[in-house]
Formats: sequence, C-alpha cells, structure tokens
Amino acid sequence: MKRFITKIIVIGVITLMGCSINQKVKKDTFPWNVHDMNRTQPKIINAGSEPGDPPSDAIVLFDGKDASAWCDSKGNAIRWKVENGYMEINKTGSIRTKEPYGSCQLHIEWAAPAAAKGKGQHRGNSGVFFMSKYEVQVLDSFDNKTYPDGQAASLYGQYPPAVNACRKPGEWQCYDIIFHRPTFNEKGEVEKKALVTLFHNGVLVQDHVEMLGVTTHGRWARYGAHPDQLPLMLQEHGSPIRYRNIWIRPLADRK
Ligand code: MG
Repeated sequence: MKRFITKIIVIGVITLMGCSINQKVKKDTFPWNVHDMNRTQPKIINAGSEPGDPPSDAIVLFDGKDASAWCDSKGNAIRWKVENGYMEINKTGSIRTKEPYGSCQLHIEWAAPAAAKGKGQHRGNSGVFFMSKYEVQVLDSFDNKTYPDGQAASLYGQYPPAVNACRKPGEWQCYDIIFHRPTFNEKGEVEKKALVTLFHNGVLVQDHVEMLGVTTHGRWARYGAHPDQLPLMLQEHGSPIRYRNIWIRPLADRK
C-alpha cells in the first residue's frame, strides 16, 4: 500500500512538472494565458450574405461592371468586353492589375465558352498569374484530356489538381486561392518557395503546395529573384473565357 501511494505521488509530481514546463514554453511563445480575455480580439468584418461575396476587408478587383483596377500590358485601359456582369477575353491581350500584390487570398470566378471548341490546351485556356509569374491554370477540363499538369486548377507545368472538379463549359466556376509569395536572400537565392492552396468549386485541389519556380512551358521551372509585390495577371490564350466577381485580400508574409 505504501509503495502504491509513493508511486501515485511520484507520477503526480512528474505530471505537474511537465505541465509547468509546458506552460513556461507557451508563456515564452505567447504573452498571454490560455483563454486570456486580454488577448487581442479579431477585427470584425462583414463576410457578405452569400458564399463568394467579397468580405468587407477585401479589395474588389472586378464587380461585374468596373474594370478600372486593370490595365493592359502597356498600362492602358483594357479592351476586354465588359458586359452582363462579366468581362470576356477578346484577342486583345492579357491584362494585369494596376496595383501590385504579394501574398494574398484571391476569389475569382470564370466560365469557359458554352460551345466547346478545340481539344486539350486549345479549349478554354487562360490563367491566373500571381505576381505575373506563377500560374494557376484556367482550362475547360470537362471531358477534355490534356497533360495533367496543364489541366484546370493545375499549377501549370508543375502539379496537377488532386481531383478534376471542372464544371461543364458555359457554367460558372470559382477558384479560392491562398498564395504566399516566395522570399529571396541577398544573393537572390530562394529562401521560401511560393506556396499555393486552391479550392476549385469549393473542393480542395492544391493543399499547401510549394511551387518549383516561375511558370514555364516545356521545361522545369526555376526561381529568379523579383520584387515582393507584382501585379496579378489574367492570361489571354486565344479563348473567350469570361471572368466575374474578383476580389483579393492581401496577407501577411509567412514568418
Ligand atoms: Mg493558361
């Protein structure tokens, strides 16, 4: 009996010591306690009434009418068709945002032409280029076989999506993307690679994926140092893709 009580006491002391060490470690990391009411309260925002609505702290890049956040490659007003709540590619070139962005959350909706024309990469091709360099592919991948690292929701030339969640041509689809920019050291070498998480029509298809480098075609990607913020680009690839409801929330860089 005496032995048993001693054992219980020893276990109790060890457990308490463990807890206090654990608590100390947490205290070193955070200047507050668990459930501390003095901890900074999250900022209150309005998330909108429907899924996909821009939250009140988002920058709206396109609301269906106003395309003034965008310009062409030369900095002039875009010539894409803007009508009926969307803008449509019309062989006038890629467009980019006037403002530069780095790490961000992006919501963007797109639709491939209802009358599917062409095959593989020639059917409904466009692309969302973060920092004008890192492409999330837009393609009509509904019943349209192509190389997997080039289908809709792929990180082009690098990683296919986990599943093909593509809707029929003509139907609206959405991407919700979390992009963390790469960082570089003083020598221009990559320190942290670009990181992408992507939901296609609400389905997780890229889960915290590190990109191999700047998007390229036909060869392996590599990194090259560039500024911390660069414009977001939407690619013209000869298909009349439509875009609507585009908003962005700049994010803090990873620590
Ligand atoms: Mg593309």
